[in-house]
Amino acid sequence: MSKNKLTTSEIENIINIYVNRNSVKDTSTITRKNVSTVKKYLNLHNKMRTRSESASIRPQRVLSELHKSRIGLSNKDKIRSVETIEKLSMAKKERYGETSNNWKGGITPLNNLIRHSSKNKEWIKEVFERDDYTCQECGQVGGNLNSHHKILFSSLIKKNNVRNINDSIKCEVLWNIDNGVTLCEKCHRCEHKR
Ligand SMILES: [Zn+2]
Repeated sequence: MSKNKLTTSEIENIINIYVNRNSVKDTSTITRKNVSTVKKYLNLHNKMRTRSESASIRPQRVLSELHKSRIGLSNKDKIRSVETIEKLSMAKKERYGETSNNWKGGITPLNNLIRHSSKNKEWIKEVFERDDYTCQECGQVGGNLNSHHKILFSSLIKKNNVRNINDSIKCEVLWNIDNGVTLCEKCHRCEHKR
C-alpha cells in the first residue's frame, strides 16, 4: 500500500473533520495526515471550500484542543506590552477570581496541578508515615486516609505568591508536614464542615 493511499474510513474521517469547520491544516493535524494528502482527498471528493466559503465560516470556527494548546505555547513566547499583560491578568482574574462562576473554593488549575505533583504525593506520604497511617481524630488505622491541611492549601498558595509549579516546589511552608494531619475520610469531611 502506498503511503498516500487511505482507507475509506480514513477518508471519511478527513472529510468529516474538515466539514466540521476545521481548516485543512487543522484537519491534517487532527488526522495525522500530510496537508497534501488531506487536500488531495478533499479535492477528489469535491469537498474543498471556496475562498469565500472559508472566509464566511472563519469567525465561528471552533478551535481544536490541539490548536488551542499551540496558540497558548506561542503566545507565551511573545514579549507582551504592559497594557496587554494587565488586560490578560484582568481576564484571568475574571475567569478564576472569586467573582467568577468558575470559582470552586480555590480549586484553580494551578492548585490542581500542584496537588497532583510528585512533591505533594511525597508530602502526603510523610504525613501518613509520621501519624503511623492512623486517623488522628478517631484512631482508624489504614483504609481511606486523607492528609488534611490545617491551613488551607489554597490560602498558602495565595499568601506565598505561588504562581506556577516551580514556585510551589521552592515554597517551603507548602511542604511543612506540621501543616498536615492524617484523617480518615469521615473525620476529614467533619473537619471541613466545621
Ligand atoms: Zn477518623
